[in-house]
Amino acid sequence: MTIYCIGRNYAEHAKELGNAIPESPVVFIKSNNSFRGFPPCPIAFENEVFHFEAEIVLKIAKDLTIGQLVTTEAISSLLLGIDLTRRGVQSELKAQGHPWTLAKSFLGSAILGKEYPLSAFEQLRNITFQLKVNGSVRQVGNTNEMLFSFLDICNYINSFSPLQKGDLIFTGTPKGVGEIRKGDTFEMNFEGHEPELGVL
Ligand code: ZN
Repeated sequence: MTIYCIGRNYAEHAKELGNAIPESPVVFIKSNNSFRGFPPCPIAFENEVFHFEAEIVLKIAKDLTIGQLVTTEAISSLLLGIDLTRRGVQSELKAQGHPWTLAKSFLGSAILGKEYPLSAFEQLRNITFQLKVNGSVRQVGNTNEMLFSFLDICNYINSFSPLQKGDLIFTGTPKGVGEIRKGDTFEMNFEGHEPELGVL
């Protein structure tokens, strides 16, 4: 299982971090042990202040071959997730032209909620989702704001790294990223579905 992530997939978020709008998806990965569920879990760098990035996460249904056209049948479910980020470390690494790995891939940095089958959503390009931190709404996104659709992303990754059953893809975060620290509460929900509650 590989955890892929897409950066700068929402133009307003790219702008808030001073990044250019990409012409093709910006792809990075997190190690498998970045994965965690919603209850409080061990986390590396636990005394740091992180940035939250609420994102829709795709789960891949089957093994694909390189270059094979990816259709919605290859996506088994959608989840909400938080791509936990050491923003200060990322900024330093970016400034030096180094990979972002240490800012994105560490124990507990890929927070994932429950799985919803694709059939739970009427239109994949019109899904609204929201993140609250300590009770305040911090991010609201809709997939109609994405620069690259779910299938654009899957086909792009599958052109160089064949997707496999169980792979997870974080599809980018809308504007509004901000600080979160151990002990803060968060609440995420797809519009029309029950909120999911967690503590960092
Ligand atoms: Zn992200």
